[in-house]
Amino acid sequence: ANSRDLASLAYQHTLFSMVPQSEVQSDGPCIYVEGKGVHVTDHEGRQLLDMMSSTSRANSLGYGNEEIARAMYEQALRMHYSGTTRFLSEPTVTLAAKIAELAPGRLSKVCFVSGGSEATETALKLARQYQQNTGKPRAFKVISRWNAYHGSTLGALSVTDWLNVRDIPDPRAVGHSFVANPMRYRNPYGMSEEDYADHCASHLERQIQFEGPDLVAAFIAEPIMQANGVQIPTKSYLQKVREICTRYGVLLVIDEVITGFGRTGNWFASEHFGIEPDIMTMAKAMSAGYAPLGAVMTRDEIADALPVFRHVHTFSGHAVACAAANAVIAIKEREGLIPRAAKIGAEFGANLAEAVAHLPIVGDVRGLGLWHAVDFTRDKQTRAVFTDDTVKAVVRRMRDLGVVVSAIGSALEIAPPLIVGKEHLDRTVAVCAQAITEVAKERGL
Ligand code: PLP
Repeated sequence: ANSRDLASLAYQHTLFSMVPQSEVQSDGPCIYVEGKGVHVTDHEGRQLLDMMSSTSRANSLGYGNEEIARAMYEQALRMHYSGTTRFLSEPTVTLAAKIAELAPGRLSKVCFVSGGSEATETALKLARQYQQNTGKPRAFKVISRWNAYHGSTLGALSVTDWLNVRDIPDPRAVGHSFVANPMRYRNPYGMSEEDYADHCASHLERQIQFEGPDLVAAFIAEPIMQANGVQIPTKSYLQKVREICTRYGVLLVIDEVITGFGRTGNWFASEHFGIEPDIMTMAKAMSAGYAPLGAVMTRDEIADALPVFRHVHTFSGHAVACAAANAVIAIKEREGLIPRAAKIGAEFGANLAEAVAHLPIVGDVRGLGLWHAVDFTRDKQTRAVFTDDTVKAVVRRMRDLGVVVSAIGSALEIAPPLIVGKEHLDRTVAVCAQAITEVAKERGL
């Protein structure tokens, strides 16, 4: 189909998500037709530098990787799908063993799913089933945090506090509550980062006491939150959270869906904070976006406490998806891409800060590994956020200049594939500074 036909088919038959249908009508859909490395070409023939790893931060090895494609092709020919329960495939078994080797602490048992939301559902159900079979049979409540994103399905939405995806009357499961999350740069009381982190950990403890420790099954948190751009907590915050959960017999579920498999310069972000989750979720960069795949991990002791884990999905541990993930992990290990992400990410962060931190509408520049954010403000003193479309305008301008990044609340987010070259990072710094300068000038800011 030519580009006009493709766009018109897209209007007619796509229920667009997360953007108003009217916005797609005016801005047009963006249909990626081919890609190689960190570049992708859309249906109008525009070549874009993809600094968002296919918008979702999943595409961690770039487009057109022949080794991964070949692994998937060969697996599909040999045995594409084994079904569920005890019917496994070779790549499913070897992948589980490999991620048990990479995961922090004693996480050793793996349950595969098809994405991040399904991983959240599975983790929460596992936590509740474990509590039911051990010392806290009445525990059913889960606690999560303000601004959390754990997925769009109803169970995951229950623990999510992102109004953009909560456009239905209160989706919380019975007994669910939220506690404060440590935000970098801005917090409601203008406290120092350390004091606010302590306040947030105390809030969790108080909430467990309020809900009744015997009734609380789990606390779920992202180690580094995406909301308003790459919120890296203090090390002591997550260590206090770990200690509180242990003290009250509340399972700590760490959501590594966006942070796992190299984004932050470690295999998992939990390693930066020296914490061991009881249950950990992952998806996205696990298969580098070559196949829909996610997983939930836990310790032997938790798995062994269940007479049977009553949970099944048709496509769990799909052989072709697992073959893709095995190839993805092999490439990341062989090419040393994760330590490289830590190194070039730190250089990129320093260059980005130098180029944009002084600009009038920039409040904070932060990041870890190859995950960075520029947080905007209309007043550097009060750190007030823009309530208009200024952040989106910067993102749009960067895209017009050929570089894809994302707007996330008050911030602009940059999350390139781990194979990104220095020249692409340098270009992104220059384009980001240009776009911010132009938008600020046009708007008299
Ligand atoms: N958890 C986190 C931290 C995420 O960032 C996401 C997706 O962005 C999800 C869960 C949901 O994953 P999925 O979109 O694969 O359902």
